[in-house]
Amino acid sequence: MSLKQDLNTTKCTASTEMPEEKIFVTKSFLPPLSVYCKLIEQIYQNGQLTNQGPLLKQLETNLSNFLEVKNFHYVTNGTIALQLALKALNIEEGEIITTPFSYVATTGSILWERCKPVFVDIETENFTIDANKIEEKITPKTRAILPVHVFGYACDVERIQEIADKYHLKVIYDAAHAFGALYKGKSLLSFGDISTCSFHATKLFHTIEGGACIVKSDEVSKRLDLIKRFGHNGNEHYCTGINAKQSEFNAAMGLANFSYINTIIKERQAVSELYDSLLSGILQRPKKQKELSCNYAYYPVVFESEKQLLNVFDELNKNNIFPRRYFYPSLNNLPYLKEHISCPVSEDISLRIACLPLFVGLEERIVQKICTIIKESL
Ligand SMILES: *Cc1c(COP(=O)(O)O)cnc(C)c1O
Repeated sequence: MSLKQDLNTTKCTASTEMPEEKIFVTKSFLPPLSVYCKLIEQIYQNGQLTNQGPLLKQLETNLSNFLEVKNFHYVTNGTIALQLALKALNIEEGEIITTPFSYVATTGSILWERCKPVFVDIETENFTIDANKIEEKITPKTRAILPVHVFGYACDVERIQEIADKYHLKVIYDAAHAFGALYKGKSLLSFGDISTCSFHATKLFHTIEGGACIVKSDEVSKRLDLIKRFGHNGNEHYCTGINAKQSEFNAAMGLANFSYINTIIKERQAVSELYDSLLSGILQRPKKQKELSCNYAYYPVVFESEKQLLNVFDELNKNNIFPRRYFYPSLNNLPYLKEHISCPVSEDISLRIACLPLFVGLEERIVQKICTIIKESL
């Protein structure tokens, strides 16, 4: 049975008189209900609802095999994954070099761990941190570099590792967008001391809520494993921990979605390529490295000005289509930061960039409509 047929069996048939449904930037993938229910039945039979249960273990095995990575920890969300990463690497206080062009959770987790985010501007090709500007921001207080593979585009992982080695810094990648992307044939989640991922409902692969840490060193991995479940083994207490354990019900959603990963990526690729063909030469797009195999997690486009972006949004909104300004604002401009660090490239791009709707099941005619509206309102 094809994915499309499979999904249709879980939907009511829509009457043709129904008003046009609202199209948002994304729509969560839902596996066939029957597949999810079978897994839920297993939980009822096992009687174990959480605490590293059998479904969670199975999901961890499936995902680490799929990504070809070791020391894979499935946790409650992508934000806590970042916090665990900082804790497991013993980074308390100090400066963290990071990107201003990301979701607020990247900066938020640094602040939450009582560290200071030091923003380095992004490069103009793919909007990841500009590795050539990192060294000038390093001080004796710098502890780590925390870049983001934004929209699934690869950071300059080689250059960043060189700098980290030279200054004895840790590297944590916020790889929330990088699931399924390959760089030089390796998962983008395999770089840095720790890579973190998010399996939130809006992400490419989701478990409703969820996240992961992928840890290079076995020793750090052991520490992270303790920290994520209160810092103890039975009656032996080792360190301050937190509760980042994920439930069996979330793991069940992950296992159900797991069998569709390749289909999900393929379908998104088809939609992306349709956008490419309809918008070619019309809007600026991030540049993909030759060595990168995309995951088609997002479809970002850059307008000439904020005014142009807002005009296009107005027209699309009138037609029940809601793209998203992503990412806006540039995180160096968050109002609650103590110090303002200027990042002109990120500030400029943030004003002009948006993500167009991209999800499994997005109809071709809607993509055509979106592109027509964009072209007409430019
Ligand atoms: C979604 C996201 C996060 C946070 O993940 P949650 O699972 O929602 O906590 C962190 N960083 C980036 C770049 C994200 O897009």
